[in-house]
Amino acid sequence: MNLDDVYQELILDHYKSPRCRGVLLNPDKKIDLTNPLCGDQISLTLKFSGDTIAEIAFDGHGCSISQATASIMAELLRGRTKDEARRLSGLFRGMIKSQVEGDQLNDLGDALALEGVKRHSARIKCALLAWDCIDRGLEEAGTSVSLRDEMPK
Ligand code: ZN
Repeated sequence: MNLDDVYQELILDHYKSPRCRGVLLNPDKKIDLTNPLCGDQISLTLKFSGDTIAEIAFDGHGCSISQATASIMAELLRGRTKDEARRLSGLFRGMIKSQVEGDQLNDLGDALALEGVKRHSARIKCALLAWDCIDRGLEEAGTSVSLRDEMPK
């Protein structure tokens, strides 16, 4: 088995047995995005505890790349701080856009399995959909948390 086969297995495994699948009750953030090019849809729900992503879940449908990426991403980001999640998202984008390579990508863990997507431009939007959701959620959370902090108790 070469590395590509291992990665293929990993992607299929996440697609068939998704981690963190579902919708959180009373989430702090809920982000719904679609990729009309492929028909992918992802709904991401997030709960924060201070600066940490305490809970994360995704729901949706679409191609194996979009759904497997959401599963891998959710598992990778659960329990991380918002800053770490932003950094990992930037790293993933760097990988998919062929801007970052090699050992620098090790922090991506299972998400490294998606590196091959960069050679298939039609699938790049599929792989970025879940990350677009988390970026949107973090962006909105950044604002609302600081506003909440400033509000009188
Ligand atoms: Zn797709």
